[in-house]
Formats: sequence, structure tokens, C-alpha cells
Amino acid sequence: TSSHTVVVIGGGAAGIATAASMLKRRPGLNIAIVEPSQTHAYQPGWTMVGGGVFDLATTMRPMASVMPRGTTWIRQAAASFQPEDNQVTLADGSTLTYDLLIVAPGIRLAWEKIEGLEAALGRNGVTSNYRPDLAPYTWELVQKMKSGRAIFTQPVMPIKCAGAPQKVMYLACDHWLRAGVLKDIEVEFRNAGGVLFGVADYVPALMEYVGKYSIDLQLGSNLVAVDGLAQVAVFQTADGEVTRSFDMMHVVPPQVAPQFLADSPLAAESGFTDVDHHTLQHVRYPNVFGLGDAGAMPNAKTAAAARKQAPVVAVNALRQLDGKGPTAGYDGYGSCPLTVERGKIVLAEFAYGGKLAPSFPTWLVDGTKPTRLSWILKADLLPWIYWNGMLKGREWLAGPGGLIAQ
Ligand code: FAD
Repeated sequence: TSSHTVVVIGGGAAGIATAASMLKRRPGLNIAIVEPSQTHAYQPGWTMVGGGVFDLATTMRPMASVMPRGTTWIRQAAASFQPEDNQVTLADGSTLTYDLLIVAPGIRLAWEKIEGLEAALGRNGVTSNYRPDLAPYTWELVQKMKSGRAIFTQPVMPIKCAGAPQKVMYLACDHWLRAGVLKDIEVEFRNAGGVLFGVADYVPALMEYVGKYSIDLQLGSNLVAVDGLAQVAVFQTADGEVTRSFDMMHVVPPQVAPQFLADSPLAAESGFTDVDHHTLQHVRYPNVFGLGDAGAMPNAKTAAAARKQAPVVAVNALRQLDGKGPTAGYDGYGSCPLTVERGKIVLAEFAYGGKLAPSFPTWLVDGTKPTRLSWILKADLLPWIYWNGMLKGREWLAGPGGLIAQ
């Protein structure tokens, strides 16, 4: 057993940002980060890779390079939690104890929930920007397609970046329109949900693009099976099963809490970390905090949300170490820059309850309309802010009151 003041589970956007933020506030704090992956990914960049804007390599960095200086990196997966004993058991059976635990292992992509999908991916026109190795294949397919049917799917919520299933579609349509082939391509958006986008204020701008690109919008249509060789997909709808052939299909997988978390005493009914939605402190174990995609809060699961959550957890967790109650609160902020065409973005920013939470005054950026400035933010500024602001705990660049992120 090794012992640390703070143990962080997950070296993703949320885990690294929180560790960095705590160290800025309390240099020398003993923090261990449990993270099995050798690579840290800027996942918001994958939509841009699939749209032919970013090179995949620019979205990845060695994990070692993002570990905040002074932290101990434990290079394996957490396997179970024993919060009564302030203990985490790792994949190799060894244990860690802590004074304070931060849970941020992200969300699990449940590819296996769609019959035939795992075998079909990466061939025969079946792709997904949710797998970085396949995001370049998305762009390859888009460039090659001149006619036929392209289907884009969205599973039931929750998923990370709820806008990503349609961002890829608009970027593809924009390419086809410019290439003069859109008129020969049938585009279908098959969305398991009942609305195009969860926050109503952004729907009119998005519907304009649905119209502009002649997209056949099918709500309540949930992908259940794929046959890649035959290029056929099966959807569950209110009217029973619908079978559709395709030439290209972009799939977003159903997403669930990581199993080891769902099986633990830390889980809410949903399987995600059972924390207070504002203080992000665990509802049963006060020395446990949770954030990021693995949290049970009803915010939009985005890196932008994690960026706002990290300093809240840092402040409240340090107070907990000092035997004091939480003071900082998270308002549910999340952001989703919808890439409606190459060069323009509808910048959705909202908090709990779908309340709009713009970072900029409306005269500068009206988030409910497509703007060029938002594209410049997404394509040029935000990746830099992510690596140099958010992951470094530099909150003047990336924190409350700072520039928006992701
Ligand atoms: P992650 O960043 O996924 O990190 C979780 C970490 O936990 C990983 O490093 C993983 O290896 C580790 N881990 C997993 N299991 C264990 C374990 N058992 N033990 C220890 N560690 C473990 N967000 C935006 O803000 N804007 C966007 O435009 C946007 N677009 C997106 C587009 C796509 C295609 C995708 C896939 C995501 C997008 N996101 C976007 C979402 C954003 O990437 C996530 O919300 C964000 O990464 C969440 O951070 P996290 O730290 O909770 O999870």
C-alpha cells in the first residue's frame, strides 16, 4: 500500500486540470494520478480531424508531458473503490490510500451495445469520430463520396459532447455542397432523441442548416445493428424496426459509466459518481469529489464543463483537507461549438436547466447564430488554451472569468 494526500483517478481533461489547479493553490501537495494510458487526447479536436481541418497528431500528447510537475503518475487502471477505508485497489491488486479522492475516469464508449458494430468499424464506409484512429477515415470517406446515402447516428443520452453527432454531418455536407455533389447524396440524421439539440435556443440556427443541406431528420430513430459488408443498418423507431442501406455511416456509440465505478459504493443509480451537483462533493463520502464525464451531474458532458468544474473541486477539496465545508459552486456550464460549416460555428453555451451562459457579449458573439469568430476560437485559440491554460491550472487563461474553453 502506498499513501498519498490526494489520489486522482483519471488523467484526462478533468483529472489533470484539477490536479494542476490544486497544486497552483497549494504547491508541494502530495498528489498521485492513476492513469493507464500513455497518451492524453484533446478529444474536441477529433471533430476537426474528421472534417479535414486538424491533423490527428496535433490532438495527442504523451501523458508524461501533461502530468503536473510534482505529481506521482501511477501507470495503471483503478479496479475498485473502498471508500470506507479511504482506499483504491488497482488493476494489479495493489492498493492506494488517500486523505482525499478525486474521481474522473471519464465515460465508457459502449460499442458492443450495437450488434455488429465493432466488426464493421473502419471498413465499408462505417466510421466514428469517437475513435481517434477512425477520425481520419471519416474525412477520407467524405472526400471520396460523390453520390449515394450517408447516414449519421446519435444514441440515447448521456453522451460526451452531445453536438458531435451532428457537427460531423454539417462539415461533411459543407464539403459536398462546395464540391457540387450534395444534390446527389441523400443525407439522413437518425437521432435516438426527440429533439435536434437539447437547448431550444440553438435549434432554429441548426434547422436552417438542416434545410440548407436537405438533411432528412429522423428523430426517435435508434441504431441497433449494423452489417458492414452488406452496408445495411437497423434502427428502432416508434413504428418498429427500420432497415436502411448506406454508402457511408458515421456512428456515435451509446455511452455508460465505467464499470468499476458503476459497481462501486461511489456510484449513483446511473452508475456515475454520486456528487452534489453544485459543490461536486460526494453525497455520502465527504472526502471524495467527482467531476468530468464520470460525474452524475446533469450538465452537458464536455471538456468545457470540466474546465469550469476543476477549480470548484480544487477549492472545495482543499477546504475539506483543512476540515472546512465547501464554498465554491458549479453552475452546470457546458459548451458545444457546433461546426455548421467550414468557417462558421453556432457556439452553444449553457448551464443547468438549459439557461444560456454566454462567455461573450452578444454584440461580439451571438451564440444562437453562426459566426466566424467562434470558428476562429475553436480552430485556433481553444486547443492552445486547453494545453497551456486548463491543463496547467492557469485560471486567468482558462478559468472562471477567463476565456471560454473547448
Ligand atoms: P476524459 O478526458 O475522457 O479522461 C478520462 C481519463 O480516465 C482517460 O485518460 C482514461 O484513460 C482514464 N481512465 C479510464 N478508466 C480508468 C481507470 N479505471 N483508472 C484510471 N484512469 C482511467 N468537449 C468540449 O468541450 N467541446 C467539444 O467540442 C467536444 N467535442 C468532442 C468531440 C468528440 C468526438 C469527443 C469524443 C469528445 C468531445 N468533447 C468535447 C468531450 C470532451 O472530450 C470530454 O467531455 C472531456 O474529455 C471529459 O474529460 P474527462 O477527464 O472527464 O474524461
